[in-house]
Amino acid sequence: FSAEEEAVLEQIEEENVDFLRLQFTDILGTVKNVSVPASQAEKAFEEGIYFDGSSIDGFVRIQESDMRLDPDPTTFAILPWRNTDESAAARLICDVINTSTDEPFSGDPRGVLKRAIERAEELGYTVNAAPEPEFFLFEEDEDGYATTETSDAGGYFDLAPKDLASDVRKDIIFGLESMGFDIEASHHEVAEGQHEINFEYDDALSTADNVATFRSVVRAIAAEHGQHATFMPKPIPRINGSGMHTHLSLFTEDGENAFHDDDDEFNLSETAKQFTAGILEHAPAITAVTNPTVNSYKRLVPGYEAPVYVAWSDRNRSALIRKPAARVPAASRIEARFPDPSCNPYLAFATLIHAGLEGIEQDLDCPDPIRENIYEFDEAKREEYGIETLPTNLGEAVDALEEDEVVASALGEHVYEKFTEAKRAEFKDYLVDVSQWEIDRYLEKY
Ligand code: GLN
Ligand code: MG
Ligand code: MG
Ligand code: MG
Repeated sequence: FSAEEEAVLEQIEEENVDFLRLQFTDILGTVKNVSVPASQAEKAFEEGIYFDGSSIDGFVRIQESDMRLDPDPTTFAILPWRNTDESAAARLICDVINTSTDEPFSGDPRGVLKRAIERAEELGYTVNAAPEPEFFLFEEDEDGYATTETSDAGGYFDLAPKDLASDVRKDIIFGLESMGFDIEASHHEVAEGQHEINFEYDDALSTADNVATFRSVVRAIAAEHGQHATFMPKPIPRINGSGMHTHLSLFTEDGENAFHDDDDEFNLSETAKQFTAGILEHAPAITAVTNPTVNSYKRLVPGYEAPVYVAWSDRNRSALIRKPAARVPAASRIEARFPDPSCNPYLAFATLIHAGLEGIEQDLDCPDPIRENIYEFDEAKREEYGIETLPTNLGEAVDALEEDEVVASALGEHVYEKFTEAKRAEFKDYLVDVSQWEIDRYLEKY
């Protein structure tokens, strides 16, 4: 066993771990679990664990359904909601291997991200990423179903209102910290019932693993308090939705921040600007992946701090990409503001990274930053500045993805096919539905 595997085996003993959840995500970003008794740990490290991939969304055709999970020992963590003195459950995030070729399975989102990271490594860079996932905490009804009511702000008639939401958030943070997260900050967001928890940046793969973990931890701990946590991008119309701003930077092999330049007006290097230009160029297609639900496009509308137009800025928050203020050179980075927390983090980061690297390789010119509030621009002004608009719905986003070689090949053929097929079907299903808005607007009028 490697030293890392040995350390995991020791912890399993010490913490009385009885079950191991071997995790991976499907193409749509849902975390899947194969549970094995902890006594299987050595075998899992030696041979991997075999499973039938045919039942996983978007995974394989029946005839090639034998898959293997190879656990990554660096991802070992005890699950905080299943941890007592007598017993505990732990998880390990796995790579999915195709047993007939013994190669990484091309439909494994984690493998897709690893390929993007390898491309960066070939250019001499490591990729750092930090997300800012936002979410809502809602009440459950008597039958345990989620509502869109918040318990925020206590009741009016409560003399000493107990803010349930801040208790929940505190427990979520303790849970995350016990799993090894470095929490930077957490705050109540703009909307009622809306929260944000930021964790420390890490390499892109660890960060994607962390996002997947984060979403399950938040949901599980909220549920212990009888609350429903949702990462749906726009649960309530006409107030802010939930984004997952993603901060990105490239570091060189000797640990220098390749995005920083002391002499630049924005402290951004040429490399950072090319990377930005690449993301701007491919943004409409990336949106299909970073904003992958019908509901995602209800968030990407003017006026709610979510981007609509393809531009970058060093100040205002209506832009697609922002250059946040940085205290030290290591912190120079760009913030992609369009992703939302319903995305598959592996695929989302992979498309952002490939588009950015394409910008570097093609030596793309970065446009000037826009310093005004772009929401207020009219069409003539947008045309004058050459500012494009993001897709306005999932169907347009998938169209853009189908026309963009760079983003399509970032996903690889297998994921691209399964993803576009699933998203086309989702959008089609939405198109044939009749919404409450239509009933309210037309039923009596016509
Ligand atoms: N909730 C906003 C969004 O949809 C972001 C608000 C903020 O973090 N400033 O992206
Ligand atoms: Mg924030
Ligand atoms: Mg926020
Ligand atoms: Mg932000």
